[in-house]
Amino acid sequence: MISSLLDYAASYHGKREIITRTVEGPIHRYTYADARARAAQAANTLVKLEVSPGDRIATLAWNTHRHFELFYAVSGLGAVLHTINPRLFEEQIRYIVNHAEDRVIFLDLNFVELAEKLVDRFPTVEHYVILTDRSHMPETSLPNALCYEDLIADESTTFKWPEFDENTASSLCYTSGTTGNPKGVLYSHRSTVIHALGAAQKGALDLGCADTILPIAPMYHANAWAMPYIAPMVGAKLVLPGPKMDAPSILELINSEQVTFACAVPTVWTMVLEHLQATGGRIDSLKRTTIGGSAVPQSMMDIFREEYGVTVLHLWGMTETSPMGTVATQTPDVAALPQKEKHNQLAKQGRVQYGINIKIIDKSGALAPRDGETSGDLWIKGPWAARCYYKREDVAPLDADGWFPTGDVATWDAYGYMKITDRTKDVIKSGGEWISSIELENAAAGHPQVRQAAVIGIYHPKWEERPLMLIVPTKAAAPTKQEILDFLSAKFAKWQLPEDVLFLDELPLTATGKIMKTALREMYKDFSFSGDSGPS
Ligand code: ADP
Repeated sequence: MISSLLDYAASYHGKREIITRTVEGPIHRYTYADARARAAQAANTLVKLEVSPGDRIATLAWNTHRHFELFYAVSGLGAVLHTINPRLFEEQIRYIVNHAEDRVIFLDLNFVELAEKLVDRFPTVEHYVILTDRSHMPETSLPNALCYEDLIADESTTFKWPEFDENTASSLCYTSGTTGNPKGVLYSHRSTVIHALGAAQKGALDLGCADTILPIAPMYHANAWAMPYIAPMVGAKLVLPGPKMDAPSILELINSEQVTFACAVPTVWTMVLEHLQATGGRIDSLKRTTIGGSAVPQSMMDIFREEYGVTVLHLWGMTETSPMGTVATQTPDVAALPQKEKHNQLAKQGRVQYGINIKIIDKSGALAPRDGETSGDLWIKGPWAARCYYKREDVAPLDADGWFPTGDVATWDAYGYMKITDRTKDVIKSGGEWISSIELENAAAGHPQVRQAAVIGIYHPKWEERPLMLIVPTKAAAPTKQEILDFLSAKFAKWQLPEDVLFLDELPLTATGKIMKTALREMYKDFSFSGDSGPS
């Protein structure tokens, strides 16, 4: 049961703290013992609102202590916590609330306006609970808006967490669905607890009670990568950044709370590192960070290691894998390699932990050899990998042996490290050869004047597709197209180089902070190349 995680923390690490930058502004501090008491109050409130086991209860909320309480109150009583990504398009939010048939929405102050706009299109929602106290309650047109602090105030601080089948659904997360409607991934108590055990292991994220964990990844993005479960499981201090996701606010928390471990997508760290370098700031308490969601450029890992003494644990995963699929931690074999090779290995997406299995199927349909060269479709199987999508019987993803297709293309090597070369739909097919957009992007990101890079395939009459590179230069200076091509030509064959390089002020991002290739493809759908340098 998920409730056992908070019970453990409250009983055995009861004084360990959870710190939140609140939506209202001030820093809030309390302990795991306090959190359990308030989760019990929230659970008693849910019972009064006639929430039954199996009901979907939604949140539109940042990473805060109140959201943390709901992680335990909702799942703990057997209902399903549906964490809505507020950055989705309004139409997508309407779709998922209706698809999940949410009965209650708990929302932060900053999302009241959004809910007001959509309220008429949420026929299943009976209650809106605003996550604040009486003095901050806004004027709102939401019907029967309730105040969270008022609601829980008089409830008992104990709750007898029920025991039920471990396969019972506990939470629901929709993937952003860059094409079509978002798809719901339903987690169970069993998958959540086993995933937390797997991810906390030494060979994975290596978390323990000496750690202070800052999940910058939002609680609506694959449950903040399980940190709200792992931190109580190991008794770590938890620091929740609330709505302030700008670099100075994040850095202030890292330093004031002496954060040792953080997790975020690369675009967040690009912003934070830029700020650090511009201001000469330090992050001396931070020892490790796990980065995933998109590929981490090696140059980012080098800066973290060499300038700030931070080890990057490159993580690959999906909402469908809870999210940890693989992590690039060091094996003794890799530790013994010369520096450069070692860093190359650790820039890959990594290895699996006990419980998870992966397979890579090459173009011929055979299991790809572990040569670090042959790429193919990546499949995954294990107790925390999805088997289907919520109420979408029309999408039946598993193969006959129960493997889940990730939609990613990867290689694996003799050391057991998997490397993502692309998403299936992003691979650039040029004259019968495949060009990895990720490898070009990562290499370009190593150029000192490149802030971000994206590569998409553009139709080419002779070669089918050729790579177009889009670059956001650093504020200080912009490189020329030729400088970029010269920089890349050290690492790539001529036919793999971008056919053209364009410079932009910014790249479109998805709701989870990744470069949105679908939007780029749409923007450049009429683009045509003048050159012709495909594979000959
Ligand atoms: P979405 O991006 O659709 O919101 P997810 O966050 O679940 O949903 O995205 C999962 C996908 O993100 C993976 O299938 C993979 O393509 C990509 N991804 C995740 N981590 C990495 C990584 N470390 N390197 C490269 N790609 C990654």
